[in-house]
Amino acid sequence: MFKEARIKLTAWYLLIIMFISMVFSCVIYRVITFELERGLRRQEMRFMRQNSGLPLVLPLPQNPQAMSLELIDELILAKKRVAQNLILLNGIILGVSATAGYFLAGKTLKPIEEALEEQKRFIADASHELRTPLTALKTSMEVALRDKKLSTGEAKKVIKSNLEDINGLQSLSSNLLNLANLQGNGKNLVFESVDLSELIKNACRKILPLVKEKNIKIRTKAKKQEIKANKESLEGMLLIFLDNAVKYTPKAGRIVITTESDKKNIVIKIKDTGIGIPSQDIPHIFDRFYRVDQSRCKTEVPGFGLGLSLAKKIIELHKGSVQVTSVLNKGTTFTIKLPLKHS
Ligand code: ADP
Repeated sequence: MFKEARIKLTAWYLLIIMFISMVFSCVIYRVITFELERGLRRQEMRFMRQNSGLPLVLPLPQNPQAMSLELIDELILAKKRVAQNLILLNGIILGVSATAGYFLAGKTLKPIEEALEEQKRFIADASHELRTPLTALKTSMEVALRDKKLSTGEAKKVIKSNLEDINGLQSLSSNLLNLANLQGNGKNLVFESVDLSELIKNACRKILPLVKEKNIKIRTKAKKQEIKANKESLEGMLLIFLDNAVKYTPKAGRIVITTESDKKNIVIKIKDTGIGIPSQDIPHIFDRFYRVDQSRCKTEVPGFGLGLSLAKKIIELHKGSVQVTSVLNKGTTFTIKLPLKHS
């Protein structure tokens, strides 16, 4: 598909370049032949002057009539040579612009090709992730339907577990939608002045029910700091890190959020005393749908491996960076660096 588009684009480049080249060639041909004709006419005038006994500047041949014909022949020959040279020049322009055009068309189409590939991968990954819980949901309903002895209590249990799956699917689809919305270069994001400490407070408040449920202590050390950012996405990013910190920290653990700033950047650290991340998994945790082996957790931790890829995308759209350090069974620290001003 892209090869075809590349050839078509090259053809368009060529058409435009050759049209311009032909127009210029015609103009050049006309100018040169006009000048040659004028020169010939001047020569003839000189011959005529010589015939009428007027003084001549240039030495003239014996037979003026024959000389005039010679000049006409010379003119025709010169015109032919001009035309041949222009045709040759156009041939060279055609060759050079075909090569350059093909190269440029490739360069022009490359980002579009990459974006399309990324989109294809995204759709394939998303449908693969959706298929597994949907199949599980369908199977559990079919089994329940086929069971003639199913009691009301058991039916309620099935419905409850199905509802949990549906909730999971709902969060997956909203994460996918967020990720898809952020896939571009974030041109639709509105950047405004926001107080980061306020955002951290809000995020902590939202996560509080989960924190209480696990009896986790959460502490923030964040000074008031204005930053140019997109409020919703930045709060979403903080929630992802905090949600993970709670999910992967055993009961009675600790989470500390600190901020430090200099003239240009602000550094947010989210530290937990959780299960940690194996070093071999660290390079992949920001990949879409990547989840570290969940068997290391005592209870199954819900998730689809989309949170960190979403968070990283948000950080990138804010021209920031993220780093992670982790020690197994001791804890994990995510360090997020964001510029104070968005350029
Ligand atoms: P999810 O949490 O839905 O699996 P994420 O993209 O948020 O997906 O995280 C990817 C993986 O990184 C998780 O599966 C988890 O194993 C690991 N991870 C993320 N945050 C932490 C953390 N604070 N402590 C331990 N492991 C973490």
